[in-house]
Amino acid sequence: MIKILSVVGARPNFIKISPVHKAFQRYNGNIIHKICHTGQHFDEKMSKIFFDELEMPKPDFYLGVSGGSHAGQTARIMIEFEKILLEEKPDMIIVPGDVNSTMAASIVASKLGIPIAHVEAGLRSFDRTMPEEINRLVTDALSDLLFITEDSGIQHLRHEGIDEKKIHFVGNVMIDSLISYLPKIDQSEILTELGIEKLKYILVTFHRPANVDDPVYLKELINLLNDFSAYGHVVFPVHPRTRNNFEENNLLDKFTGGVLLLDPIGYLDFLHLTKNASLVVTDSGGIQEETTFLGVQCITVRDNTERPVTVDIGTNHLIGKDLKKVKASVASIMEGKVKKGRVPELWDGKAAERIASVISDYLKKESC
Ligand code: UDP
Repeated sequence: MIKILSVVGARPNFIKISPVHKAFQRYNGNIIHKICHTGQHFDEKMSKIFFDELEMPKPDFYLGVSGGSHAGQTARIMIEFEKILLEEKPDMIIVPGDVNSTMAASIVASKLGIPIAHVEAGLRSFDRTMPEEINRLVTDALSDLLFITEDSGIQHLRHEGIDEKKIHFVGNVMIDSLISYLPKIDQSEILTELGIEKLKYILVTFHRPANVDDPVYLKELINLLNDFSAYGHVVFPVHPRTRNNFEENNLLDKFTGGVLLLDPIGYLDFLHLTKNASLVVTDSGGIQEETTFLGVQCITVRDNTERPVTVDIGTNHLIGKDLKKVKASVASIMEGKVKKGRVPELWDGKAAERIASVISDYLKKESC
């Protein structure tokens, strides 16, 4: 019997691990897959709704570590996760994405000699001011199996001297979730609930520290979002970090009526909003991929992206942080200057199946 433990902590992790969990259920009980939730994102809207909507079991382990500084959070996850590993002794851990939980769990497993599989390995923004970039570099250096979503990931890992045998191009588990939930996504009633119409609104999300931590920039961003309402409604589900910064800087009353400020939205409703938007403006990582899959125009307000395939062949426009350029780009897209875009290779809904198969073969060989 093989025992595998996946470690999740934040919203995008839950979406990525759901298809992996389901793929292991097809091994007729020969592989036991357990889930450890570190508690990084913990409330109803950032955590529970994703377990419910994506039909995942309650986590087997819950570490209850949230908030604090990066070092403090990483350290507390390491201390708590070590206890779980010593008790459970899994054959392998799986870590998705690039959050602090990903890196913390990898360090602990690596020191206990437990193999690590990194789902969404090899992505690089080459911007070490992003905490996620540090998490990616450390996790990839320690991982035994590196599962890749796009060609750039293979190139980066080769360049970093990672053994070719560890690298597996499998596709994108976030897109697996999207494909398998499309029928339910289509049934969402969120447009009616919000009183808005298909293709008549811009969907916005912002949560990266580089965009939301500086109050001066944040104020300029609000002015820009207010201007967007000239094109229709602006729908803005606000991440808790961003909301805190709005509140601390007394910025909430700077929004005009054209911007619908919402709490974070559940997966099915959010993807319904994404699929039917005239345009998405974001600094999210995963949303750049989902819009590319759905063929929806996306403006990324960042100077770099670790997901270049979404720009090279997808519908993502990497505009940078200069808000004048963002404004011009929105205007040009709304005038019809859109990118056609294609779906990247292997974003076909079967990434998790491939991951389960590689892991199963790897662990069989290890045990021989
Ligand atoms: N998402 C969601 N509700 C929201 C905002 C985002 O379900 O209100 C989903 C989105 O579809 C994507 C994931 O959350 O699957 C992206 O998470 P986030 O932007 O927080 O993280 P990142 O991808 O930037 O690491």
